[in-house]
Amino acid sequence: MEKVKKIILQQMNHLWRKSLALLVGTVVSCFLVIGIQSYTTAQEPGLTLETSLLTLEQVGDNVYALISDTDYPPANENIAICNAGIIIGDDGVLIIDPFQNEALGNLLLSEVAKLTDLPVKYVLNTHYHFDHTGGNKAIQAQEIPIIGRGTIREDMLVKNQESDPTPAVPNIIIDDDSTIWLGDRVIELEEVAGHSGGTDVVAYIPDAKVLFAGDILFNQKFPYTADGDILKWEATLDYLSEKYSDATIVPGHGTTGDRYSLESLKGYLYELELMARKWQELGLSEAEALESAAEIPEAYQDYRFQGLYPINLKTAYEQITLKSSSNP
Ligand SMILES: [Zn+2]
Repeated sequence: MEKVKKIILQQMNHLWRKSLALLVGTVVSCFLVIGIQSYTTAQEPGLTLETSLLTLEQVGDNVYALISDTDYPPANENIAICNAGIIIGDDGVLIIDPFQNEALGNLLLSEVAKLTDLPVKYVLNTHYHFDHTGGNKAIQAQEIPIIGRGTIREDMLVKNQESDPTPAVPNIIIDDDSTIWLGDRVIELEEVAGHSGGTDVVAYIPDAKVLFAGDILFNQKFPYTADGDILKWEATLDYLSEKYSDATIVPGHGTTGDRYSLESLKGYLYELELMARKWQELGLSEAEALESAAEIPEAYQDYRFQGLYPINLKTAYEQITLKSSSNP
């Protein structure tokens, strides 16, 4: 599993280095410094929502999502991999997941400044993965507090080393469900399990009925399962789809959805689970199992992030097939 993760990261780093080499002349030599409300951010010239494959979507009253339209890996380092959130309260703003690098973090801050004069009060990382936290550098430069859960600081420093060697780690750690007030507007942070061992948080805005699900939801994209827990993830999806049955749900990856999006990912994970149990019954080796399921099933052929499908099979084999058959 580690090896596959490594290969993917290496491929991605390779791709990024290549695009970085192309960009380096223009980017480094002509950094513009422009004022953004009370901030001064180093904004990369030519970087826009369009070039980053992002679309600004209003998902509630004063609640916005920046939805990424990329496949994985992205064609260059400044194409946003994940989605971000902007929640404007009475006296300030909460940002969710400032993308994978400083330039995209700054782009997000500049988009906030177009929507409101209010300051960004907090940034939330829904989990530790670099595609959601690399942009923290732009946030840290503005001395805005960054919130994360559990072991997120250690995980960013150790597990993200290859993709983000000098991370800007959160400076507020929550170890329980928590509440943020932006004036009279309330945002409920809830700890959940399944995607990224001990750092997953979802954020709900009750007055707008909007849930930011982080990577608990990949909508119409294959999920990254390699450091998740498939069975816990399924349970979380069931729980959230019942609890937030009438909410608009912004995923970590993919288009905005609702409870049916959660149920659809649950269905996919459950199919993986059943497949892995079948492999166990048949006594297949890992290589045999992966070979037997190598073709992407018809129902998921339109899903993006197809490179993650073989990793999903491997995770299912390791987490389910290899477990004792007395398990349910
Ligand atoms: Zn992600």
